[in-house]
Amino acid sequence: MRALIRRKAQLVLDDVAEPEAGRGQTLVKSLVCGICGSDLHQLHHLEHVAAAGKRSGLGDWIDPNRDVIFGHEFCAEIIEHGPGSTSKLKPGQRVVSMPFVMAGGKAEWVGISNHVPGAFAERFLLSEDFLLPVPNGLPSEHAALVEPLAVGAHAVAESGITRDAIAMIIGCGPVGLALIAALKVAGHEPIVACDFSPARRAAAEKMGAHVVIDPSKDDPHARWETLGAAPTLLEQMKWAAAGRASKPSVVFECAGAPGLIQRIIDGAPPKTRIVVVGACMQPDTIEPVIALNKQIELRFVLAYTAGEFAATLHNLAEGHIDGAPLVTDIVSLESAAEAFNRLSTPGADVKILVRPGS
Ligand SMILES: [Zn+2]
Repeated sequence: MRALIRRKAQLVLDDVAEPEAGRGQTLVKSLVCGICGSDLHQLHHLEHVAAAGKRSGLGDWIDPNRDVIFGHEFCAEIIEHGPGSTSKLKPGQRVVSMPFVMAGGKAEWVGISNHVPGAFAERFLLSEDFLLPVPNGLPSEHAALVEPLAVGAHAVAESGITRDAIAMIIGCGPVGLALIAALKVAGHEPIVACDFSPARRAAAEKMGAHVVIDPSKDDPHARWETLGAAPTLLEQMKWAAAGRASKPSVVFECAGAPGLIQRIIDGAPPKTRIVVVGACMQPDTIEPVIALNKQIELRFVLAYTAGEFAATLHNLAEGHIDGAPLVTDIVSLESAAEAFNRLSTPGADVKILVRPGS
């Protein structure tokens, strides 16, 4: 079968061995799969990602010198179940799944593995127990967004944000837009979104942001007072003395740019909770004393739970989340390498989907 393969830090189209479903596994046809920021980074810097994973406790999980087939944001169609299957889902059924498959007695990541193909192949394997049928006639192109959107649901849940808080999203790429979608679904207001790209600001507005800021023209941190939060320690004391309530503030860092956490510490009101969702892949510096003076809270979040994944699929299928503003192009497997190139320089693209079958 045809697959887009990462080989020696390049993407090549080649034929690879047809996967075969073992016990508990299901062979699926890849219908559509999104290109993720992590795919872009792993294409060029897999050695670094492997080393960072090892330091984070993942062991020797990936060998950068061997082939990898990316693709973890997919919608697929069941071809056949492995031997002894107990699944009620029939061949032809469209499905999504968290990107894991049990193989050789351990969980392999679908889309970042030396052992199993990801969804930038014509066919790949999933675990039958993890399959979720695509409900309600949801188009495959939108079902494939469940994985990146679930990241937003998780970050919002982990943030512990309260109804009276001001939510600010820094960076409106797919991660930031997923945050906006999750806050909107939770009925949160106001959602303040910042991005340098006009296309991403437009997408943020369509996803439900109430205030959209171009940081090249307008300092997002100049807005706190208007939004209802005392912007400095001194102001906070004055407000408290005057019996004026100050709203809590939560800033979601969704850009992963070096220096950004410190800029948020500098600009955000005292006692702001900063939730880091964007992956900065290099050492970064903060000045703890400023965070200390302002009693800033800092936390980091990753991925999603099975429940958040299923709930996000439900929200897409019921129309509570409209994934359309995220998708800026759909390309064939032959054009996928070029799409990776396009995404590596900021432009009008947000999420590009690949159709491995076409
Ligand atoms: Zn992803």
